Amino acid sequence: MSDSVRSLDRQHVWHPYGPMPGRSEPLVVTDARGVRLTLDDGRELVDGMSSWWAAVHGYRHPALDAALHADAFSHVMFGGLTHHPAVELATRLVEISPAPLEHVFLADSGSISIEVAVKMCLQYQRARGRSGRTRMMTWRGGYHGDTFAAMSVCDPDGGMHALWQGFLPEQVFADVPPATYDPAYDEHLADLAARHADELAGIIVEPVVQGAGGMRFHSPRHLAALREIADRHDLVLVFDEIATGFGRTGELFAADHAGVAPDVLCVGKALTGGYLTMAAALCTAAVAEAVSADGGGGGLMHGPTFMGNPLAARVALASVTELLRRDWRSEVAGIGEVLTTGLAPARSLPGVRDVRVLGAIGVVQLDHSVDVPVAQAAAERHGVWLRPFRDLIYTMPPFVAVPDDVARIGEAVVAAAAAG
Ligand SMILES: *Cc1c(COP(=O)(O)O)cnc(C)c1O
Repeated sequence: MSDSVRSLDRQHVWHPYGPMPGRSEPLVVTDARGVRLTLDDGRELVDGMSSWWAAVHGYRHPALDAALHADAFSHVMFGGLTHHPAVELATRLVEISPAPLEHVFLADSGSISIEVAVKMCLQYQRARGRSGRTRMMTWRGGYHGDTFAAMSVCDPDGGMHALWQGFLPEQVFADVPPATYDPAYDEHLADLAARHADELAGIIVEPVVQGAGGMRFHSPRHLAALREIADRHDLVLVFDEIATGFGRTGELFAADHAGVAPDVLCVGKALTGGYLTMAAALCTAAVAEAVSADGGGGGLMHGPTFMGNPLAARVALASVTELLRRDWRSEVAGIGEVLTTGLAPARSLPGVRDVRVLGAIGVVQLDHSVDVPVAQAAAERHGVWLRPFRDLIYTMPPFVAVPDDVARIGEAVVAAAAAG
């Protein structure tokens, strides 16, 4: 049975960022409960990745399962129709996000919410009679998704831009943000924005943590600088919190570290606790007004078939409710403490450039590319699922992971760093 799954997978199924057929054989998951993945050979692995930031409550969580299994309709179109799950979710997101964000566009994935955010920026400028402002400013080292507008603001070196040259819009890039606050970097951002103000529609960044672009952390003070710069030139400030939203960095939203509110906020990944694909772009009244004005386009020009999917909205609402019901702040802080202790031995390993922990995120950066199969095999020997990339072995455990499981993840990361 599992052999046929393997060979059919190899014959027919693409996996992320891979060739066809794949270079390595994926593990076959037959069940997932709590923080554990069960494999077809009977092994159980502690999930160190939360299925790419999403499964913050682990798998088969009773409250989330109940939301999905309730006697509920599956989907209705969102054009001209509405329903309780979408309205309640949107209202809840407005309540818990930074104050000026009032309106919610429900999208079907993180990348699509970025496309929507970019449309908001362009339509905002158009409403102000500045239709020539069509570029976005960002900093290097970012990751915003795999659709074209999203890719265009990803790191130009690590983000596969060379592959799409001639097709991808050319955006305005600042240097990678420094690891600790540097006033000279604020000046660099201000200069760049001033030089390009006539052609810029908005600024988009991942606040505090750059995820898939390199797992780098930066000072929240640079976000305050971006807010000022955006105001100075009337640019729409977009924070991509698809990875950082819902507590991962130790605040509910990473923007909260800086006490700065964006004009547009994108959330996804942990929004549904990893159950179904859904994301959202939240915006201020000023952005909504401009987008809706005749000059701005008379409305937001986007409308996915599965917009506001009721099942996804129900499970998202259950996920947010569950998160806020628990003491997520202590859970995240506790994971951070165990990871800080657990990853410390990696500092003295040869080939390790840096070890860093923020919130419930732990990163070991090597001075060379990870030998991924070797590193993964080392982690599996410790009973842990990790997915290193480039020079990074990293973990963002489910918030419900108990200290023993987090400690085991820490050992696995160190073992993977030593092996890979
Ligand atoms: C994952 C991610 C995205 C893309 O989300 P998808 O749901 O994969 O399209 C965008 N931005 C950030 C910061 C992400 O981590």
